[in-house]
Amino acid sequence: MRYISTRGASPALNFEDVVLTGLAPDGGLYVPETLPYFDHDALAAMAGLPYTEIAFRVMRPFVGGEIDDATFRRLIDESYATFNHDAVTPLKQLDSNHFLLELFHGPTLAFKDVALQLLGRILDHLLKRRDEKGVIMGATSGDTGSAAIEGCRACDNLDIFILHPNERVSAVQRRQMTTVVADNVHNIAIEGDFDDAQAMVKASFADQSFLAGQRLIAVNSINWARIMAQIVYYVASAVALGAPHRSVSFTVPSANFGNLFAGYMAQRMGLPVEQFVIATNANDILHRTIADNDFSRRALKPTLAPSMDIVVSSNFERLLFEAYDRDAGAISRLLDQFRQGPATIDPTRLQVMRRLFASYSVDDDAIVEVIREAFEHTGELLDPHTATGYRAALMARANTLTPMITLATAHPAKFEDAVVRAGFPGAPLPDAMHDLMTREERYDVLPAELPAVQAYVAAHRH
Ligand SMILES: *Cc1c(COP(=O)(O)O)cnc(C)c1O
Repeated sequence: MRYISTRGASPALNFEDVVLTGLAPDGGLYVPETLPYFDHDALAAMAGLPYTEIAFRVMRPFVGGEIDDATFRRLIDESYATFNHDAVTPLKQLDSNHFLLELFHGPTLAFKDVALQLLGRILDHLLKRRDEKGVIMGATSGDTGSAAIEGCRACDNLDIFILHPNERVSAVQRRQMTTVVADNVHNIAIEGDFDDAQAMVKASFADQSFLAGQRLIAVNSINWARIMAQIVYYVASAVALGAPHRSVSFTVPSANFGNLFAGYMAQRMGLPVEQFVIATNANDILHRTIADNDFSRRALKPTLAPSMDIVVSSNFERLLFEAYDRDAGAISRLLDQFRQGPATIDPTRLQVMRRLFASYSVDDDAIVEVIREAFEHTGELLDPHTATGYRAALMARANTLTPMITLATAHPAKFEDAVVRAGFPGAPLPDAMHDLMTREERYDVLPAELPAVQAYVAAHRH
């Protein structure tokens, strides 16, 4: 399997290099050159299989033989053994034809665990085979950092450095990162805000000389392996509800569009999907683009669904690339226009996208209302991100006879503010985390100065 850049000016890579590279040198994102296809019989044969077996069948073509089957199965098994539900991503019925796909049974209670548990293990395997060590650097405003740390804690050939703004993340979020006490896990609290932390990570990727030749690896949502791992639960949930004999629809709480793009890949690979509903919070660039052809930046609004607080949706470029029939020149021009100001999608292309994609934006007041309403109607306590999906599914669904699967992207205990605002006393942490608030923490506080951070990373890696 080979991977090409959406901007067309970087050489094609194999699986191993695409996982280790992240962003293409031309600024584009890598996508598979050709997609595997699962025909009716191949999908029908997956019904009833364990999650890990479906995962192996769905992802194997993307690896293209670069990891042997037995090893790849082992990496998958180890990744999903960390989940506290045997179904890994169980489905729950909400209404006669509306289902919740619970993606939050991993170690940090959010859907990012599904991809990061596997990505950490794949990276570690590839690095060991090359006899190399890698350094991961990331900045977090609270949520992604912990999922990346949990995915790497057991990796011998990886060191992970996560920067968070000191005293600006919640105690639960900080503790999910800082109580992972492992030699290769390094938490840095920056005396500054999230933007300071992110700027230092970006500068470190741009000039990696402080690592004297060692590889710096990005695990953000543009890494192809994360998309690949997320395709699995679309297939698993659809076959559980009768695919390929009937179609299903999905509603996805969205920000960087990595989750939804995985669903789109599943559809292109043969899964019968009738509709995708994109749910956003008040940071609604995806909704404005689909609904109004307003592809433009707006100032960031902090919301009750903070993991969806974005200005630019990085993985949307992958969808545009497909919508423009893989015309890399047109994508480069469109994104240049976008960088300089408001951009417009070609109306014919947008029309085609609207046949498959609908969108809906849910602001904070509505999130609070939905949490209350969903509990009344279904007995389920939704987290604020999932709440945007629940509302969008009801508002933008094209056909009530087709099963709607709404993706539950986080556990409500992780985002108590919204739950409390909705009038609930809170949501208890699952058993495995009951002692989170009393566990030993380990982190260092550093000034928001690039040389200090880089010296720390260089000195603490193995
Ligand atoms: C990251 C995240 C999202 C958004 O997913 P994208 O792949 O960026 O669209 C939604 N909900 C939660 C809880 C998240 O952590």
